[in-house]
Amino acid sequence: MSIRIAEHAGFCSGVREAVERALQEAARRGRVFTLGPLVHNEAVIDYLARHNVVAVNSPEEAAEGVLIIRTHGVPPAVLEQAGRVERLEVLDLTCPKVQRVQKLARKLAESGNQIIIFGDARHPEVKGVVGWAGEEAEIDVVASVEELRSLAIKPAAALIAQTTGDQAVYEELKALFLQCCPGGKVYDTLCPETGLRQREALRLASAVEAMVVVGSPASANTRALAEACRRLKPTVMVAGAGELDPRFLRKYRLIGVTAGASTPHWMIKEVVERMENEKLELGTGLAEEGPGEETVPKAEVMEGEMREGQQDQNQEVKAAAVIEEGEKERAEAEPEALREEAADASEAEDDLAEDFDFAESLNLVQVGEQVTGKVVRAEADEVYLDIGYKSEALLPAREVYLQEGEKLSDRFATGQEIEVTVIDVDEQESKVVVSHKRLAREKRWQELYRLLEEGATEEGRVKQVVNAGMVIDLGEGIEGFMPGSLVDLRYVPDFKPFLGQKVKFKVIEINREKDKVILSRKKVLEEENQRRKEETLRSLEVGSIIHGVVRRLTNFGAFVDVGGIDGLVHISEISWERVEHPQEVVKVGQEIEVKVLDVIPEKERISLSLRQTQPDPWTRAMQELKSGDIVKGRITRLVNFGAFVELRPGVEGLVHISQIADYHVKHPSDVLKEGEEVEVKVLELKPKAKRIGLSMKEVRKSTYNASPGEMESGDPGTVTLGDVFGDLFEQEVASIKEESSAESPEDAAEEE
Ligand code: SF4
Repeated sequence: MSIRIAEHAGFCSGVREAVERALQEAARRGRVFTLGPLVHNEAVIDYLARHNVVAVNSPEEAAEGVLIIRTHGVPPAVLEQAGRVERLEVLDLTCPKVQRVQKLARKLAESGNQIIIFGDARHPEVKGVVGWAGEEAEIDVVASVEELRSLAIKPAAALIAQTTGDQAVYEELKALFLQCCPGGKVYDTLCPETGLRQREALRLASAVEAMVVVGSPASANTRALAEACRRLKPTVMVAGAGELDPRFLRKYRLIGVTAGASTPHWMIKEVVERMENEKLELGTGLAEEGPGEETVPKAEVMEGEMREGQQDQNQEVKAAAVIEEGEKERAEAEPEALREEAADASEAEDDLAEDFDFAESLNLVQVGEQVTGKVVRAEADEVYLDIGYKSEALLPAREVYLQEGEKLSDRFATGQEIEVTVIDVDEQESKVVVSHKRLAREKRWQELYRLLEEGATEEGRVKQVVNAGMVIDLGEGIEGFMPGSLVDLRYVPDFKPFLGQKVKFKVIEINREKDKVILSRKKVLEEENQRRKEETLRSLEVGSIIHGVVRRLTNFGAFVDVGGIDGLVHISEISWERVEHPQEVVKVGQEIEVKVLDVIPEKERISLSLRQTQPDPWTRAMQELKSGDIVKGRITRLVNFGAFVELRPGVEGLVHISQIADYHVKHPSDVLKEGEEVEVKVLELKPKAKRIGLSMKEVRKSTYNASPGEMESGDPGTVTLGDVFGDLFEQEVASIKEESSAESPEDAAEEE
C-alpha cells in the first residue's frame, strides 16, 4: 500500500492563529476561557484544557478573566451579554473571513434582501451570521440543493455560504439559485483555504484508490472534505490513528490522506504513521499467510481490476469535471457580479459589492487578512507594497525575519510579489501596515512539516554550537537543534569546526507548541552511504581491480572500503607470502588496489584480494625451476609428513618425510629446525596445483655420486662425506640410545 498526503491539510490560518493566541494568553494570564470549544477537535480541546484554555458554555460561566470568542464568531447579542459580565474581558478571535460574512449579511439585510445561507443551521458560524443579519432579516438556511429547490425564493434574494461549506455543492446551489432567481445575487463566501483543501482533496481522490480524511466528525469542514472525497472514492473519516480500520487499509494499494482545517498536524502524522505500520504488517502478513479469505479466483481478480481501472478513469474524469465545472461557474459568476454592479447605480449596492466579493475586497483590508503585494519601493528598513489598497502598505523591518546585517533592500526587489498579513489599518489615515514574518513563519513551519513527512533533505547554517549539539538557523526566526549523536555517523568530539558552515539535515521531530525542531545530519549521511553502497554493489565486476581504503584489521583479514561498503580481503588473499596477521602487510587508513573476487549483493558481501593485484611468484618460479635442480631454501614449517621449504618469496615446496634422509626419520623435527637453511633437489613440479616436490636425501646422493676427480680436486664445489652427513650419524645413534634407555635402564647400562 502506498500513501499520498494532500499538500494543504490540517490547521488553517484562522484556527492556527486562534489556538496560538489562546495559548499565549493562557500562558500570560494563567487561564483563559473560550465560549464553546475553540475548534471542533476533541484532541485539540484536551490539549488546550491541559494548557489552561477552558471551554465554557456561557459568558457567565467564565466568571472573570478573559473570554475568547472563537473563529466561528457569535451573534452581536452574545458579545453584548459577555460585555455585561463584570471583570470579564472579551478577546474576539472571530476569523476575519467569517467577520466579512457577518458584515455582508448585515448589509444585505439592511438592503431588504432575502438572505439564503448555504450551511448547517446548527453550526455556530451560521448562528453568528444569522445573528449579525439582525432579527428583522428574512433569512433561510439550506443544507442541500433539494432544500433550496423547495424554498420560495424572492426576486431580491442573495445567496451566501458558510465559509467551510462544500464547494461542489455550493456550485450546484449557485446554478439552481440563479435559475430560480435570475436577478439574485450570489456571493462567493467560501473560505479560500477550505476551497483549496477541497480542490486538492478532489484531485488527490481522483488519483488514488481510497481516501482517509483526518478530523473530528464535529468539524463541518472535515465532514465537507469527507463528503467531497466520498463522491469519488471509498472514504473513511477518522478522528485519530486509533480509529483506522486495518481491513479498510488492506483493501487498497494507493490511499490518499487529507485533513480538515481543525486537525492539528501531529494528528495527521500519527494517522500516516499508523498507516505506514499497517503497510509493514500487511507486507509480512501477506508473505506469511498466502492466499487468505479475501482471495478470489484469478479471472474474478482480473475482471475486478479492469472494472477498477475503468472506474478510476471514470472517477478521474468525474473529478476533473467537478473541478472544471466549479471553476467555470466561478468564472461565469464573476462577470455576472460585475455586470450587476455596473447596472446597479446605487452607492449602497457598490459598497455591498466591495464588501461581498472577496476577490475585490482589498479596498477594505482587515487586520489579520493575508494579501499579496507587489514591492513598489524597497529601502534598507522599510518596504512599500501595492496591495490594491488606496495607499501603499508599509512593511517595516521589524516585521521581517532578517539575517544579521541583512537589510530589507537586500531581501526584496522592486516588482517582487510577496505574501503578507495585514496587522494594522488606519482607514482615516489610509495607512496599512503589514507583516511578512507572520505568514513567512507559518509557511516555514508548513515546509518543515512537509520535510518531516516526506523525509526530505534540506540545508541550513550552523548558528551556534553547544556541548550537546548544534543550533541550525531554519529561517523565519525558527531554529532547529541537532543533538551531538545526530551530527555524524561517527563520534564528533568538537562541533566548533561546523560553526557558520552549511550542513544538510533531515527533520526528525517537530513539537510546534514547544518551538522544537530536531534535526539529523546523520540520517542524511546514512542515506548517502546506502545510496553509494547500492551503487557500488551494482557497479562492481568480478575480476576488476578497484581502489579502496583499509578500514579495519582482524585476525582473519582486512576490511576495505570500496565506496560506501566494506569488502573483505581474507588473510589468505593478503599476500603471496605466508602472513600471520594482516598488519604485517597493510595498516588502517592505507589506500590500496584490490581485485574483486566475488560479490553477493543481497548479502552485501564483497570478497577481495590484495595479492592478486601483484605478480604471482609461482609463475616465475615454475619458469625458472626444473626437475633435478639443486637449490637452497628455508624451512618454514615442519609437519608430521615432511618439511615445507620456501624457495622464493611466496613459493614453497615439500620435502616429504621419506625424502629427508636415507635412513628412517620418525618426525621431521628430529633432524630439522624451522628457519633452517637447507639444500634441496627439485623432484617434481606441478604448475597447476602449485606444488613442488623436493628431496634432501637426493642432494646427498647427488653429491656422493659426484666424480672422484671432483672429490679430489678440492675445488670449492666439492662436498665430502662429512659435509653430507655431518653429525647426523652421531645424532641418530644418540637418539637410538635414548630410546633404548627409556625402554630399559639396565639395557642402557649394559650397552654403556
Ligand atoms: S476555515 Fe477559513 S474561515 Fe474558517 S477559520 Fe479557517 S481560515 Fe477562517
